[in-house]
Amino acid sequence: MAKVLRAKGSTEILDHSPEFSDRVMARLDGRPYEPKKSMAAAERRAIKLSLAEEQNWLCFYCGCVMVNDPAQPDAPNALTFDHIVPKSEGGKFAKSNGVAACDKCNRDRGNMPFDLYCECVEARD
Ligand SMILES: [Zn+2]
Repeated sequence: MAKVLRAKGSTEILDHSPEFSDRVMARLDGRPYEPKKSMAAAERRAIKLSLAEEQNWLCFYCGCVMVNDPAQPDAPNALTFDHIVPKSEGGKFAKSNGVAACDKCNRDRGNMPFDLYCECVEARD
């Protein structure tokens, strides 16, 4: 959702909660808010939070302490769900296909293969 918003260039809402973005966009467009049917935002959020808990809120890649603060959605250390197999390659939003990563690492990795990015991070340290 956040990527779509950026592509449109009209609104800069980079909250990492898809449900929040949907709700705001619905209000901006004047249409009623209808939660997505594919996977409930609450379910996605639960997966993301559960991964974060398991990792003690440390970014999988760089090890920084992540935050999940709606007041600072653009923080470099904002909690994100990072697909191990990228979405562009058919990777699903599932706990088995994800790690909790800070926003910076998630953007930095982009569509880079998981193993390759792990090597890059190790080389960086
Ligand atoms: Zn990181």
